[in-house]
Amino acid sequence: MSQTLTIALSKGRILDDTLPLLKQAGIEPVEDLEKSRKLIFTTSDPNVRLLIVRATDVPTYVEHGAADLGVAGKDVLLEYGSQGLYEPLDLRIANCKLMTAGPVNTPEPKGRLRVATKFVNVAKRYYAEQGRQVEVIKLYGSMELAPLVGLADKIIDVVDTGNTLKANGLEPQELIATISSRLIVNKASMKMKHARITALIEQLGQAVEQRAG
Ligand code: AMP
Repeated sequence: MSQTLTIALSKGRILDDTLPLLKQAGIEPVEDLEKSRKLIFTTSDPNVRLLIVRATDVPTYVEHGAADLGVAGKDVLLEYGSQGLYEPLDLRIANCKLMTAGPVNTPEPKGRLRVATKFVNVAKRYYAEQGRQVEVIKLYGSMELAPLVGLADKIIDVVDTGNTLKANGLEPQELIATISSRLIVNKASMKMKHARITALIEQLGQAVEQRAG
């Protein structure tokens, strides 16, 4: 039986940091992924191919078995809900924090808090756990703008250096989760291609350890 593996990745931070790990596991794309507009890439391993998809689509491809494996940020997995997937390895890359943020030195409004975010599920869960009534406003990007123009009181976003918040007069406030990218695996693939996938998890685990020093 063929043990061909399909791995879903997204361009940018995750791709940049995952390629060196894959290389150590003997998997190298045969052309430059960042320069190409193609979406499927063969690799130095004839039995492994890479798919390039949107970061938020990685769990969808893997859960439905269109990819056997994928690399997704924990922020994306928290929002997607990862009970349909295995998450066997923390790759310890693309580290950041999922936080609430609001205008500097501004007290919270008396009434119901308005929170703008693309992490709608995370936001609802977070405030429900605290028993706080909030209105969650879905945005697809540039969340920092929302408090500046009166669309929301706060935002929930991923923060790395905090420079983007600062440049917009916002400050990080509550920590919701520390974030890194995770290897995710389709549940059926894990059964059907067990030896191949566990070997790859093992190799990637070693690459992560080496990188961490
Ligand atoms: P910062 O370094 O806090 O100014 O981050 C700049 C922007 O990059 C943030 O607003 C985020 O949208 C994004 N960002 C930072 N780190 C990550 C990450 N690990 N994964 C995805 N997006 C990130």
